[in-house]
Amino acid sequence: MNLIIQNLCKTYDNGVQALQNVSLEIPRGMFGLLGPNGAGKSTLMRTIATLQDADSGTILLNNFDLQTNKETIRKLLGYLPQQFGVYPRMSAEVLLNHLAVLKGITHKVERKEIVRALLYKTNLYDVRKQQLSDFSGGMKQRFGIAQALLNNPKLLIVDEPTAGLDPLERNRFYNLLSELAENTIVILSTHIVDDIKELCTNMAIINQGKVILTGEPLQLIEQLNGKIYQKSIARTELETYKSQYHVINDKLFLGKPIIHIVSDVPPNDGFIPINAGLEEVYFSQIN
Ligand code: ADP
Repeated sequence: MNLIIQNLCKTYDNGVQALQNVSLEIPRGMFGLLGPNGAGKSTLMRTIATLQDADSGTILLNNFDLQTNKETIRKLLGYLPQQFGVYPRMSAEVLLNHLAVLKGITHKVERKEIVRALLYKTNLYDVRKQQLSDFSGGMKQRFGIAQALLNNPKLLIVDEPTAGLDPLERNRFYNLLSELAENTIVILSTHIVDDIKELCTNMAIINQGKVILTGEPLQLIEQLNGKIYQKSIARTELETYKSQYHVINDKLFLGKPIIHIVSDVPPNDGFIPINAGLEEVYFSQIN
């Protein structure tokens, strides 16, 4: 099972070029698509989910061309959109059963078993009788995954799933996704570096509609090691440093600005070397 995306382009009617020649090879396991808001992630996810068409380019799932095999591909995929938004005054069990009917699981005994298994898998079995409208953010996201898994997909697409979850809920969600990725392609789009760090074996960084970096997170970090330096500076000095160095990150530490730079040679000048992490990989590409 693999997904190959070649030269995908999409320009919206308002002239925004949301995808510009996007090419990616996505193997089995967890693939992270990392980029800031507006980068084109949702556009790409919706296109792979067969919900909108690109202007040009191809998507192949196991050699099936998506453009001419939409029905086949829909049977193979599960999708959790950024805003799932269906949390009615109805219990998780009842709605999941209802969605299973809509997905064509007509045999009652089989359906009951699938619904029960998915409620267990997503850790919602004990709360299956509760109304979805009373669920926490994390529970809603796990329900979103349960519905996306109804047809036992080989490709699972989750768009910004951890935004708004507290750390405990996020961890629980990570565990669920990584279990699923053992025998599925899972594409996770996110603007949160930690999501990728914890979960993904392969990743791409996308910005302004273009893929700007792909690889395995650990290798990408390795390539930056020995090139990252940090210095605590005065707030007023920030612009000067930005003009002299490739500043990839500035943040406050105990109220004082700290900058991180990337440099092939030691800058001295009071900088100290630090280990690279995925944040440095990301910010060195984005900034
Ligand atoms: P992301 O998911 O990374 O935040 P999107 O794919 O949602 O990015 O958006 C990429 C760009 O396309 C943004 O500039 C956004 O404003 C624009 N865009 C998204 N959807 C539409 C649309 N339906 N019509 C016009 N512009 C859109």
